[in-house]
Amino acid sequence: MTSLPAPTSKKLGLVIDLDICVGCQACATSCKEWNTGGYSAPLSDHDPYGADPSGAWLNRVHSYEIGEGEDSRTLHFPRACMHCEEPDCVTVCPTGASYKRQEDGIVLVNPDTCIGCKLCSWACPYGAREYDHDDGVMKKCSLCVDRIYNDTLAESERIPACVRACPTGARAFGDLGDADSDVSKSVASRDGYGLLEDFGYKPVNKYLPPRPRRNSNIEAGTQASETIPAADNSATEKLFAWADRVLSR
Ligand code: SF4
Ligand code: SF4
Ligand code: SF4
Repeated sequence: MTSLPAPTSKKLGLVIDLDICVGCQACATSCKEWNTGGYSAPLSDHDPYGADPSGAWLNRVHSYEIGEGEDSRTLHFPRACMHCEEPDCVTVCPTGASYKRQEDGIVLVNPDTCIGCKLCSWACPYGAREYDHDDGVMKKCSLCVDRIYNDTLAESERIPACVRACPTGARAFGDLGDADSDVSKSVASRDGYGLLEDFGYKPVNKYLPPRPRRNSNIEAGTQASETIPAADNSATEKLFAWADRVLSR
């Protein structure tokens, strides 16, 4: 068993806007590219262009249809480690390889002491851990710890690779422990939420829900469009239902 550090106020994490994510996978591929040569290097990658590709991906984007008929829409859902405040993935680790940093809350794995027992992946309700069969160790999102403090990079580059790559600005990085940070303000103004909060892991990453959709079926000459309020709640409910089903593996 590994103990957690005393909580500090700094909580680095991501805020992902589900309203504007277009599911382009740029975040997933840039994550894979950076981490293949970075902190978690190398990341296994087998048969990438074949019929049955496999490997370690620290950030995955899922897309699915919600609603029915004219109310249907596609929701894209990026998923990676939430850098939880109460992460059982850390406390179950028998070697201390899985740990949470006191200074900024980032959850990491030390590849030198990981024995590949997979207890942490069973403990994570978000399916955020990736066992690398080639290396025999567990890997996960490091919040690009080797970018955000990297003074060999220009200051504008000291953000996670996924945030830098996102073409729509759907991903934001910052200190969610600081109520005055841009990420905290966006969560407050958009009723952002953590995934599966009932589990008690206190995920630091937050999602901004899809906005109610405007009805595109506007007759010629009509000034105002009609709001479809059900889409908002429906999206959130489906997201949780999906998470329950797919992530409880
Ligand atoms: S999302 Fe999973 S791997 Fe990440 S800190 Fe939370 S429990 Fe651990
Ligand atoms: S797989 Fe590695 S990090 Fe995970 S619990 Fe086992 S030793 Fe710890
Ligand atoms: S890069 Fe941005 S828009 Fe594309 S899938 Fe990732 S979060 Fe969504």
